[in-house]
Amino acid sequence: MSSITTETHCQTISILGATGSVGLNVLDVIVRHPTRYKVFALSGYNQLQRLKELCLLHEPDYAVVPTPQGVKTLQRDLALSGSHTQVIGGESGLKFIASHREVDTVVAAIVGAAGLNATMAAVEAGKKILLANKEALVMSGALFMQAVHRSGAVLLPIDSEHNAIFQCLPSHSPGSLASAGVRRILLTGSGGPFRQTPLNQLHDVTPEQACAHPKWSMGRKISVDSATLMNKGLELIEACWLFNARPSQVEVVIHPQSVVHSLVDYIDGSVLAQLGNPDMRTPISHALAWPLRIDSGVAPLNLFEVARLDFEVPDEIRFPCLSLARQVAQMGGTAPALLNAANEMAVQAFLERRIGFTQIAECIEHVLDKESVGQVKDLYGVLEADACARERALHWLKRRT
Ligand code: NAD
Ligand code: MG
Repeated sequence: MSSITTETHCQTISILGATGSVGLNVLDVIVRHPTRYKVFALSGYNQLQRLKELCLLHEPDYAVVPTPQGVKTLQRDLALSGSHTQVIGGESGLKFIASHREVDTVVAAIVGAAGLNATMAAVEAGKKILLANKEALVMSGALFMQAVHRSGAVLLPIDSEHNAIFQCLPSHSPGSLASAGVRRILLTGSGGPFRQTPLNQLHDVTPEQACAHPKWSMGRKISVDSATLMNKGLELIEACWLFNARPSQVEVVIHPQSVVHSLVDYIDGSVLAQLGNPDMRTPISHALAWPLRIDSGVAPLNLFEVARLDFEVPDEIRFPCLSLARQVAQMGGTAPALLNAANEMAVQAFLERRIGFTQIAECIEHVLDKESVGQVKDLYGVLEADACARERALHWLKRRT
């Protein structure tokens, strides 16, 4: 691992996906600690007004937008407001801010496969990476982790469950879970908004209902993933890579209160858990300051208000996406990339009301059924699998809409 943050060093930070739910939570923590953190660069995709406001507030050296037209517009608007932020464009812009020598820390908070190349650039440059963009790791698994080890990058999960597991594991990684005396990882999930919806009503639930998560406020894609439990499936795969676990060592536990963010079960019978209010600023603060602790702005947990903690077995008939993810975790190779791409396509179609909620799993199952799984040799192979799965999903979706 490379350098560890000390009290005196001011961390320079690039945020990939700064205009999203995670990005905004990161900025909320950063402004509380102006002597510790300096924003180097922010990226946005289609919310240029919001990106402009963030640039005026945080005065980054660079801002990144996807198109040349966007570069022109934002650069002009910022200059008119007296800002010195330089606006750059496209994927090369993202890679530039992810790997720049002045950057200590990169927050990977772009949603979906779109974040893969920039996150990999940060990994290859040996940065400290706060990983929210789970799809990037799910797709590229072994390649991603090999690059982390090769470059000496410091990979810190800010997905709340993985951050909780990280906190419950021994601080000095002994290599394998078995040698750390770990029996299982218990990955918790709220069960989403449809945990108790009658099965015959699931097909007709709307994007608005799916995005109304009972405990977390998040972007639309991850909200739908939480409603199908694909989010828990992606997190299972994410946990396998982050903690060098086999899929059978990760058990999913439904916990509707979302107070226990995950647990680690040791062979001596000890079970360590991390608890807290469901607020992303806790895992973000933990990872930003690690191995120190800083104030996150999150209210103290009131156990008397929480009063009870419930735990349930996930219903895999209601939530077939979880079984599909477990299957691809066991298959390995390009299977997780196929699953992820098909899921992104199906979720988008659902959000655009082109398919019903239960057809998300049908689409993914179809793609996994038809596409052959190969070995992951390089990033090109991963992107090829991603493209094939998208093409296959597109055909399936066209026939239904
Ligand atoms: P979001 O939709 O709110 O934000 C996504 C960000 O990515 C935005 O800044 C957007 O401009 C940018 N973006 C979107 N498409 C892009 C593209 N094609 N190219 C470049 N940038 C693009 O999403 P979010 O909820 O903040 O989630 C971001 C990531 O973090 C996801 O991978 C999600 O699974 C993960 N995550 C989110 C939460 C949460 O609480 N929101 C929790 C854990 C993990
Ligand atoms: Mg999570």
